[in-house]
Amino acid sequence: MKILLTGAAGFIGSNLAKRLVDDGHFVLGVDNFCTGRKANLTVLAGNPNFEFVEADVSLPLADSIQKKQKWDWVMHFASPASPPKYFSMPVQTMLVNSEGTRHCLELAKTTGAKFFYSSTSEVYGDPLVHPQVEGYWGNVNPIGVRSIYDEAKRYGEAMTYAYHREHKVDVRVIRIFNTYGPNMDPFDGRVVTNLLGQALAGKPMTVYGDGSQTRSFQFVDDLVEGIVRLMRVDYVWPVNLGNPDEFTILQFVEAVKKLVTTQSGVEFRELPQDDPKHRCPDISLARKLLQWEPKIKLEEGLKKTMAYLLKS
Ligand code: UDP
Repeated sequence: MKILLTGAAGFIGSNLAKRLVDDGHFVLGVDNFCTGRKANLTVLAGNPNFEFVEADVSLPLADSIQKKQKWDWVMHFASPASPPKYFSMPVQTMLVNSEGTRHCLELAKTTGAKFFYSSTSEVYGDPLVHPQVEGYWGNVNPIGVRSIYDEAKRYGEAMTYAYHREHKVDVRVIRIFNTYGPNMDPFDGRVVTNLLGQALAGKPMTVYGDGSQTRSFQFVDDLVEGIVRLMRVDYVWPVNLGNPDEFTILQFVEAVKKLVTTQSGVEFRELPQDDPKHRCPDISLARKLLQWEPKIKLEEGLKKTMAYLLKS
């Protein structure tokens, strides 16, 4: 298949691009490197089934993207995703998920491609339903600091279904829960990279708030497997992809300590505004629809991520 993939230089985009190319597809990657990194593309460089265009998809799409007449898939994975990163570029984050999504949907519509949108568990906000099922509408502060990301992703989903309803574009939407693994930006400021990096450097591990908030960590290979399986089935509504093993941040610190021989203690810092208290996916739908569930346990995934961080 011929696949246009935005965000191809990003953490998830680059892992997905590699898998799609390995599966025999042609991928045109697009990225403006606002958070994506050239190093993530090294492994694909020179592969005849991979091409790359540097572009910002929140602007009208370049001729180099439009001119390929026939796409089987337009997959929109471009967006800052780490809270410190999106806090630092609020307007860009909103635009890539609003205008960027519309440009990708327009391309899908005009070329007859299917459209795949990478949404997020953040659409559930600070959830009042636990674990989060796809049918839950969320608890989002529309003017809070995180709204640049969660409201933008909600808009992206709404735009996706507007094109589906009005223009009959065939769509897939995933809601990605916290994901980690190789190709993460070691300095993206998320809890996995921060704490592993701090432990490896023998520095105190920064815990925001009292560390009782929870997250569920999914290794990137599991996510990519879920994405590929969703491409093969005929289902247009949102699907949660995440690992339901839930940890408090303090339990996560213990998991890191078990893995890294370190003198690092814990340094408590102020909890960021609107930081969700709990997050855990209900993956019943993905289990049934895709015969999918995460295979990689936290310890194994952290070992692989640590090996990556040590050589990057
Ligand atoms: N966090 C932390 N220490 C850090 C970075 C993050 O305790 O150095 C917390 C953060 O407040 C949140 C959780 O870890 O409760 C996950 O944060 P992350 O930025 O990885 O992603 P989020 O799930 O908030 O989008």
